[in-house]
Amino acid sequence: MTAKAGIVWTLLIITAGLMSLAFIFFSLFPGKVPDVAWQYFSPDNAERARQYQQAMRLAGILAFLAQVAVLVGLVTSTRATAWSDAALHITGVRYYMALVIYFVLIWLLLKVVALPFNFYSSFIVQHQWGFSTQNLASWWLDYLKGGILELVLSGTGVLLLFWATGRWPHTWWAVAALFLSGWLFISTFLWPLLVAPLFNRFQPITEGPVKTMVAQLAGRAGLRIEEVLVMDASRRTTKANAYFTGLGTSKRIVLYDNLLEDYPLDEVEAVIAHEMAHWQRGHIFRGLLWGVLANFLLLGLLYAVLRITFTYDIARPGPYPPHLLVAMLLFLQLVSFLGQPAQNAISRRYETEADWVALELTANPGAMIRLHVDLAQKNLGDIAPPAFITWLAASHPSPLERIINVESWRKYNTKNMD
Ligand SMILES: [Zn+2]
Repeated sequence: MTAKAGIVWTLLIITAGLMSLAFIFFSLFPGKVPDVAWQYFSPDNAERARQYQQAMRLAGILAFLAQVAVLVGLVTSTRATAWSDAALHITGVRYYMALVIYFVLIWLLLKVVALPFNFYSSFIVQHQWGFSTQNLASWWLDYLKGGILELVLSGTGVLLLFWATGRWPHTWWAVAALFLSGWLFISTFLWPLLVAPLFNRFQPITEGPVKTMVAQLAGRAGLRIEEVLVMDASRRTTKANAYFTGLGTSKRIVLYDNLLEDYPLDEVEAVIAHEMAHWQRGHIFRGLLWGVLANFLLLGLLYAVLRITFTYDIARPGPYPPHLLVAMLLFLQLVSFLGQPAQNAISRRYETEADWVALELTANPGAMIRLHVDLAQKNLGDIAPPAFITWLAASHPSPLERIINVESWRKYNTKNMD
């Protein structure tokens, strides 16, 4: 490792460490909720949400830190090399078979390390707060299904990536970024058709007031909405939600059955309008373009860092030795963590825009405010998280911020009517 590489890795680890510490600090001591919130929320509810979110935040950051610690331990010891040598030995120096064995080993290790935190946040805490409607067997089935899917897809990705390092020793990162970007589009198209149905059932809305509402909103938004589906979310959770997903002909709006069950019709209308706004503004497509940029940046940086860290390994002909995998994983973990603020800032901007466009469609700010209040209350969303937590980790503006935006929409529009 060159001195330059030492500096780069130290900086990455220290920055991620400090950001994690700040995240833990603000999770433990979130400070006061601004007084303006009490116009809409009860202090009791705000407090309960804070406690729930605290458990979720701590579990999330500790899972990340545990995985990073394992990877740092492997990279800085002789184990990474010893294990990959063992894999090569067992397979009789069949490179790709050894690579697969090594990858599965590291992947399992990371899974096991994160498992207690995942189980705590997605099972124990969910039951403690009365959100989960899932029994243990069904949780494990989800976990296994998700795990196998992840293992197969990321395993294939690793095989292709290492193959590319042998085929294009200096430009594999650009080829990989191009390939990954293509995959991003393909998988966004396929996800709602192939993956989501593995976990839930989806029913198209064919009649009733919601169907009429969808048609009216779509007309106002100038969209031809092919699919609005109801998902049986209640088999796992009591939380309500909705999302917009897919690409091209697989585009669809998905509503949780809990939402239709527990929320008044004008709030459901606000949700549908919000999702249609994402659709109308092409947020998924624009998000994918950011993803393409991120792929090139991430993989280009990865190549640069590998070159100064493993100069000797990389200069050899043929694909990279399997033991480089752990350093690559560590780098990607750290850099995607450090990139979170940028990613979330883009997401929050889209969410704010979608709320605004939704108001143009429904012209019902009252329902939109009640929706944000109800969602925060029932889902225990933090009404106003500390600024640092929003900056680092929030994909949506806080409920209070969203309500304040609705109020300014109302002010802006009443002024224009005068
Ligand atoms: Zn949204």
